Amino acid sequence: MERMKKLIDLSRNLQTPFVLFDLEILKENYIRLKNSLPFAEIFYAVKANSHPRIINTLKELGSNFDVASAGEIEKLLKLGVAPEKMSFGNTIKKEKDIKFAYSFGIDYYAVDTEMELEKIALNAPGSKVYFRLIIDSSDSDWPLSRKFGTTSEHIKFLAVYAKTLGLIPYGISFHVGSQCNNKFKWREALKEVSNIFKELKLNDGINMNLINLGGGMPVVYDKPIPTVEEISDVIKDSIEEYFYFVDDLKVIIEPGRSMVGNIGLMGSSVLLRSKKTDGEWVYLDVGIFHGLTEAMGGIRYKIIVDGKEKSKMKTFKLAGPTCDSIDIMYEEVELPEDIALNDRVYILNTGAYTTEYVTNFNGIYGPSIYFVQDIELEEAEINSEANSAF
Ligand SMILES: *Cc1c(COP(=O)(O)O)cnc(C)c1O
Repeated sequence: MERMKKLIDLSRNLQTPFVLFDLEILKENYIRLKNSLPFAEIFYAVKANSHPRIINTLKELGSNFDVASAGEIEKLLKLGVAPEKMSFGNTIKKEKDIKFAYSFGIDYYAVDTEMELEKIALNAPGSKVYFRLIIDSSDSDWPLSRKFGTTSEHIKFLAVYAKTLGLIPYGISFHVGSQCNNKFKWREALKEVSNIFKELKLNDGINMNLINLGGGMPVVYDKPIPTVEEISDVIKDSIEEYFYFVDDLKVIIEPGRSMVGNIGLMGSSVLLRSKKTDGEWVYLDVGIFHGLTEAMGGIRYKIIVDGKEKSKMKTFKLAGPTCDSIDIMYEEVELPEDIALNDRVYILNTGAYTTEYVTNFNGIYGPSIYFVQDIELEEAEINSEANSAF
């Protein structure tokens, strides 16, 4: 909360809508995860926030990157990230993109079906593939199940098939679902992964080396969550317990939300308040098409109305500014009952999956992006000029 207060104070002069990012918090997040899971290599999931300053900061800290397309690869290459630091984690790839990735020496590819293996064998021969295990993501607020992953049985088959195609069956990935609130999900998944490793070793002589823990670590929105350290302890214990038989184990983790979620503050303004037959509505200058896309699913952001922290609360419907009726964040949300035109509304922990989703729909532009470090620098310059005038 202290951090958020500081961000709010620094944003006083910014016009809404904006998102203000703090690169210091990003550094802390990286170091905290690194210290909690020292044996794991961090592959930041670029899709959560691909702003060049964020990529650069992580690059300098030594991070690797999980990419999903040629577009992301190109962006990272331009920023000086080496191809050896990238993993192609999307299970649904264009053949052209596979070829492109291979030409730069990217060596890891995620797969969950025969056809994808065939595409990789053709366009990135001899590469390392890892198989995405499907797991139940019922404990997550933004599930990534169904569309991705396959069963243990199918993975065992795919591993053998990969070998016959000249690829290297290298390991298994999973994703417990984004914003996962149950730390024991990682344990369940790791147990299942170890069984697949074991059976492939015994029955097919295939030694798998890689565990890709995916993402899923949560960020504080509107309810308590397990900490990075608590989840890491479960992961460490499970790996020790289940993977004793693997000699050369390589563990990677792909944080997105937990790396950047708490580094951002969104600022918006009230454009309209309106009483309708179905209740009372508040309309902001940002919405589903301008960065609050995840409000449509399960993400419940914490919202603060500037100067009205002590007001009595009341239930409203909260919507964005566009002419589309899906542009509604919440059918029910508690806001100060005296919320009024032009009030500044802060949406907390909006560093992940916000600016990446911005469209210019309706000719309405998304939030401007600012960095705490620039504002502090400007203030320091103004202060030093003021001082030197004396
Ligand atoms: C989106 C994604 C992640 C990041 O997930 P978070 O829940 O944001 O940490 C990691 N790995 C893969 C393959 C993804 O698609």
